[in-house]
Amino acid sequence: MDPDVPSLTAGIEIHQQLDTERKLFCRCPTLLRDTKEHSGGFTRFLRATESEMGEIDRAALEELKHVRRFTYCTYDTTCLVEDDEEPPQPLNPEALEIALSVARILGMNPVRQVHPMRKLVIDGSNTCGFQRTALVALAGRLPDGTGIDTICLEEDAAQRVEEGVFSLDRLGIPLVEITTAPDMHTPEAVQATAEYIGMVLRSTGRVKRGLGTIRQDVNISIAGGARVEIKGVQELDLIAEVVRREVRRQQSLLAIRDDLRGRGASVERQPQDVTSPSARSGSRILSKASCVLAVVLRGFAGLVGREIQPGRRLGSEMADYAKRCGVGGIFHTDELPAYGITAGEVETLRAHTGAGTGDCVVIVAGTPEQAGCAAQQVIRRAAMALEGVPEETRRMLPEGSTAYMRPLPGAARMYPETDVLPVTLDEGAWDRVPVPELLSDRAGRFVKEYGLDTAVARQIAFSERLPLFERAVAEGVNPRLAHRALIATPVELARKGTDLSRLTDSQYLSVLQAVSTGKAAKEAVPDLLAALAAGKPEAEVLGSLTATLSPAELDAIVARVLKDREAFVRERGKAALGPLMGVVMAEVRGRVDGKLVSEALKRGLEKVVK
Ligand SMILES: [Zn+2]
Repeated sequence: MDPDVPSLTAGIEIHQQLDTERKLFCRCPTLLRDTKEHSGGFTRFLRATESEMGEIDRAALEELKHVRRFTYCTYDTTCLVEDDEEPPQPLNPEALEIALSVARILGMNPVRQVHPMRKLVIDGSNTCGFQRTALVALAGRLPDGTGIDTICLEEDAAQRVEEGVFSLDRLGIPLVEITTAPDMHTPEAVQATAEYIGMVLRSTGRVKRGLGTIRQDVNISIAGGARVEIKGVQELDLIAEVVRREVRRQQSLLAIRDDLRGRGASVERQPQDVTSPSARSGSRILSKASCVLAVVLRGFAGLVGREIQPGRRLGSEMADYAKRCGVGGIFHTDELPAYGITAGEVETLRAHTGAGTGDCVVIVAGTPEQAGCAAQQVIRRAAMALEGVPEETRRMLPEGSTAYMRPLPGAARMYPETDVLPVTLDEGAWDRVPVPELLSDRAGRFVKEYGLDTAVARQIAFSERLPLFERAVAEGVNPRLAHRALIATPVELARKGTDLSRLTDSQYLSVLQAVSTGKAAKEAVPDLLAALAAGKPEAEVLGSLTATLSPAELDAIVARVLKDREAFVRERGKAALGPLMGVVMAEVRGRVDGKLVSEALKRGLEKVVK
């Protein structure tokens, strides 16, 4: 265990979009659209329903404090199922097969019957107020011993476009949700597990690729801290950093708690109205607000402003809670005077609220309703600081720190989906599930079969162009050439600003065939790809290739180049080979392989240099 991270316990939940033809509960394509293309829309009001247990989930209750009116964009690729105007159709068998494939690779046990359930979601991301999810398999294990608890099939939520507006194109795209046991104890182990599971998912060849198609939720706690779930970590490289920062946050909050207890700190439960002393403030927010309230935190001075994570303070945590009431943020005396509030005003504030120098005063401003709500939220969060780390669902900020989203959901949020029939899995069904070769194994096979370097083989196996590579090699293209043209060259060209994103598979294959059949030298590949990507017709780019130069033609060019640069050749002797390579290559414009040019040049030099 990492000595800097005492008793860290972490687990992850990975959500991966599946590349099925149709959605999970309707026949619509799994196509993401530009919101500009939306063909219609409608508005809904959502409220929490009681679950079977007769309780309202605490996360749902929290959500009820906020916007409940939502607008949805519809498309010609969405239907009445996404709108929640028509019952869902039977579970997509293609999605189930992919989930079962993943379950087999992970050594899991399938359930006998796949029962779609409803998971309460009232943030508006689902038109019906719940997300459908179905448990597919249980209890697997990774090669390093990390336990896999469950794999579920779920429908993706609608994409949030702006506050209260959602796009329905993503709603219903099948996802697999893989939940690990809380078996990881270092930040690096969390990242390695996420990487391994990502590799397993891509090994099926049937998952969507690109940013946003895989999302990781990380569950973290440390000894004495609390379970915190960080939602939607999209960048794999950041996972270890997210975990490190969360550990630091929990450690800092525990240290703050100990300091507060040592000081006998307390939270005044009654906010004080400071609207009139604030009315003359140089701060625009304070002078314009119809209500300004102050919360006195006894013994908190210096701790509200203490950093708990890069860019985050205890005050940021309080501000997150207050923002749920519609205020823009909070002010507190640990960071005042600032923001147009003068030292004199801070003195007046302290005198007015009876706060001493050991106390911190937090100010919230807005309408009376907003300020009242925000003050209560500050009081709630400050009281939690006396207890330690609150259990929360948090969202990742760009660099890997996090902000509060909502309380952790309770257990009361699942109930059966009565509109979809369960799917029974017989023994045969499980045996018929395809078990794909792992990408890591495939990389090993490329090393053996094609004599490629390990790094190159892995680059191919993990690339989105793997299927194209395999097709090219099957058509007789040299594997090294295929790797260069399909993976290395596009990276180099992208670095120079050439965008190859519009090239089709068949264009790549045409270029590879031109080289394989001797119509073009491999040196010509970057130019050919760039020309095709620029939109030049294939007939013009590849049709105009003169056949490979004959050895006699090449020798003639070499002889002319040497004659034109007689003085240079005399001066440099055989060392002229290097500089002259570029000259001859430019003349032959990719019609001859570089190795042949080098040989011809060497022969030519030997003739003229004694
Ligand atoms: Zn549909």
